Parts: sequence; C-alpha cells; structure tokens
Amino acid sequence: MSPPVDRIPSDEKLPARADVVIIGGGIIGVCTALELARKGLSVAIVEKGHVAAEQSSRNWGWCRVHGRAIPDLPLSTTSLRLWSGMDKAIGRATGFTHCGMLAVLHDESELAFWDDWFEQARPFQMDGRVLTREELRALVPEATGADWVAGVYSPSDGRAEPLKAAPAIAEGARDRGVTIHQNCAARGLETTGGRVSAVVTEKGTIRTSAALCAGGAWASMFCRHHGIPFPQAGVHATAWRTEKGPNITDGGINDGIYALRRRDDGGYTIAHGGAGRVDITPQSLRYAPRFLKLFLKRRKKLTFGIGSSFFNGPESWATWRNEEISPFEKMRVYDPAPSTKLIEKGMEFLRRDYPVMKDVKVADSWGGFIDSTPDSRPVISPIASLPGFYLAAGFSGLGFGMGPAAGRLAADLIANDVPIIDPTPYRHARFTDGTRMDPSARLG
Ligand SMILES: Cc1cc2nc3c(=O)[nH]c(=O)nc-3n(C[C@H](O)[C@H](O)[C@H](O)COP(=O)(O)OP(=O)(O)OC[C@H]3O[C@@H](n4cnc5c(N)ncnc54)[C@H](O)[C@@H]3O)c2cc1C
Repeated sequence: MSPPVDRIPSDEKLPARADVVIIGGGIIGVCTALELARKGLSVAIVEKGHVAAEQSSRNWGWCRVHGRAIPDLPLSTTSLRLWSGMDKAIGRATGFTHCGMLAVLHDESELAFWDDWFEQARPFQMDGRVLTREELRALVPEATGADWVAGVYSPSDGRAEPLKAAPAIAEGARDRGVTIHQNCAARGLETTGGRVSAVVTEKGTIRTSAALCAGGAWASMFCRHHGIPFPQAGVHATAWRTEKGPNITDGGINDGIYALRRRDDGGYTIAHGGAGRVDITPQSLRYAPRFLKLFLKRRKKLTFGIGSSFFNGPESWATWRNEEISPFEKMRVYDPAPSTKLIEKGMEFLRRDYPVMKDVKVADSWGGFIDSTPDSRPVISPIASLPGFYLAAGFSGLGFGMGPAAGRLAADLIANDVPIIDPTPYRHARFTDGTRMDPSARLG
C-alpha cells in the first residue's frame, strides 16, 4: 500500500503557455520548479498521479554525503547545504535535520576502502571519521548483539521526511507562482522547426520552449516516445515502518544488511539494504548489456523474475500518439507490493543486534521502484538531438538526498545560467559517446 504522503491541492486551470513545463512531481521536479521560479521564470508542473506518490515518498529519507562516489561529492555536498536552508527558504517543514549517519563495518578489510575514501574526499572537508569498536559501543549502546568491528560516523549527514518534503517544496514553489497539475499526465512533446514548442497533456496543451522530464522510473519510456535512448533499469525494493520503539539512535544506521532511521513519531523506517527484485521486461531486455556490470556487482542481493511488469508499468512496451490515452495515465501511481520475506529477514537481524527492539512491531510496509542508470549516476542534462528538451532522471537510489542540488543544476542549465557545479558527469551524451560505464557511483 502507498505510504500516506501529504496531499496538496492542484491548480485548476492549465496555463496556455509557460517558460518551462516540468513533467513529474517527485523531489527532482519540485526542486527544479522552486529554483526556476526563484529565477523569475513561469513554471507548470504536470504530474500523472499526485506529488511524491512514487519514489519520493517511498525512500528512507537519507540525505547523505559520506560514502558517495568522489565525482558526485560536489552534487551531494551542495545538496546537503541546500537541505539545511530548505525549511527557511520555503517557509514549511520538510523534516530535515542533521541527525548524523553511521555506516557499520563487519570486516576490518573494509577499513582500507574508507582510509582511501577520506583521503580522496579531503578537499571537501568532511566531518566524518572512522570509529573504533569501543567508540561504536558508546555511540549505540543498545546494539549489544551486533558483531561490528568499526564504523564510519558522519554527524553532518541528515534526513528529511519523505512523506512531507516534496509536497512542502511544491507548495513553496507555488508561493512563487508555479502551477501544479495533478492527475495530469504528459503524453508527449510537440516540436516546431526541430525544437520543443509544447507539452501535450491529457488535459490540454501547454506551449513552451523548454520541457524537463523528471519522470523518475518512467523517464526512459517518455524519451523512447521521442526516439531518445535513455538506458534505465529498475529494482523493486521494500521498506517498512515500525511502531514507536526505544531510542537506539536519533539518526540513521546502515548495517549493510538492514538500514534504519529514527522517525519524528518515535518509530523507525527500515529496509533490507540494497536487496530487491529485478524484473525481466521489454525495457530491461533492451538495455540488458548495459546493465550487466551493475547487476553482476550486486547479484548477491538481487533476485530476478518475470511478472505483470512485463505488460504494465514503467518498463513495459507501449506506443501511442499524443492524441491517445498514454501508459502514464493508465497507471497513476506505480505501487509495487513489498516483500514479506525481506521484512521478516530484516526484522530478524535487527532484533538480534538490538535486543531492546524485540517487542517492536511492524506498523506499515510498502514497495518502491528504484530507477538506475548503467553507471548509477543520474542524467541532469539537455538532450542534444531535441533542443528545448531536458532530462533529470536515473537517480539510482540516491535522488532524495541529491534532490535540491539536482534541481538547482537542472534549473541553471534550463535558464542558461552558470551551473552551480560542473554538469559533465551528468551529461546524457555519455551513453552515446563511448564513455566507459563504471557502476561504482552507488557504493552502498
Ligand atoms: C525504497 C527506497 C529507498 C530509497 N532511499 C533513499 C534514501 O534514503 N536517500 C536517497 O537519496 N534516495 C533514496 N531513494 C531514491 C529516491 O527516492 C529517488 O532517487 C528519488 O525520489 C527520485 O526522485 P524523482 O523525482 O526522480 O522520481 P519520483 O519521485 O518517482 O517522481 C517522478 C514522478 O514523475 C511522474 N511521472 C512520470 N511520468 C510522467 C508523465 N508522463 N506525466 C506526468 N507525470 C509523470 C510520476 O508519477 C512520479 O510522481 C530510495 C528509493 C526507494 C524506492
């Protein structure tokens, strides 16, 4: 069942024109809208379901810099800074706090990785450090059953509340003039002289010279409708929420097997870290050679299967004309089922490590769908073959934390301003210019 995300109203009237139309009301779409509005541009967000109904409400809420691939540190550190000022900027609560994040290590051989990571990350002045076994015990005294040998603790890393954050940012954007249209799928683009001239939605056409696809897991399908290749594959993930429990941490802990973070209501959001199911679908078959390296790297945590996603949903095969009902309006919200097996296993490990959690019950659970690229790095980029079309998708399980900076970068590119960070790692052309795909951007 979908998690109970804050619902916001829609703007009734679709504008006849807008400087920018954003397709998708997840964290990336709403952050981009906020930044574009700050630049004085008129913006309309069109969302096929409701704001944050898909990945942006289903995630763990971690806004983390430590452990990110080094080329992504400019984006991650900028995002953490923007998260810090977000509530003030929008006059609303996203639940963001610098609660501190801990990654625990089970094997001393992992320490060499972290020594090297901290060395390379030195220019970014990280405040995290490696904790000894004794320091870990002092930080998490309730973890009496854990077999951790060390940990990496980063006090400045934080979390926001996925049920609140994107809707709050969307409302902040609306305060600056952005219009928000829910139950309003974008079916496709119109072009004039080879450039984007309009976005066709199920409720009418909006004339524009700039359209951003921030469609999360559906982005590849939207791109394909216009002959643009975007290699994207999805992993079905499971997360759950417990009832209120004893305070074992105020922040987040990633054990490698399970990951948890304390919520404002005193319960925990938990997941079986990195585990999930990859479905064989028309899209996954199309891009399989590109994802081989990534899936081989993560094969111990993934299962592979075939199901209804072959025929319906973001990776299915579909063709349509802009005058016809599109696959986007046939599935307003992609709401995959959670895996009971993963929940039971995750709770078993959790109760073993924290005996004080033995009576804490699971209150709610949900499935999610993580969209990845072959190098686990998003695309935030103009599309060279279709001037006026931009893409911000493929966040590979890291997009909630990166959202504010990704939105800022996308807005800078659309407005032709000096980009807040170097956009080169995020260019779409890397999939066609022979760039070697290294799947190491997602380290944990
Ligand atoms: C279980 C789980 C745990 C995660 N944990 C974390 C974490 O702790 N930290 C972190 O940083 N990231 C995490 N992530 C990843 C993060 O949630 C995503 O990277 C991020 O939310 C992606 O945002 P988005 O806006 O690109 O996509 P989404 O939130 O999926 O938004 C895309 C929106 O576009 C809409 N849409 C698609 N096509 C159309 C169309 N044609 N017309 C109109 N609307 C359309 C969809 O309905 C959807 O609402 C996790 C993800 C999952 C599933």
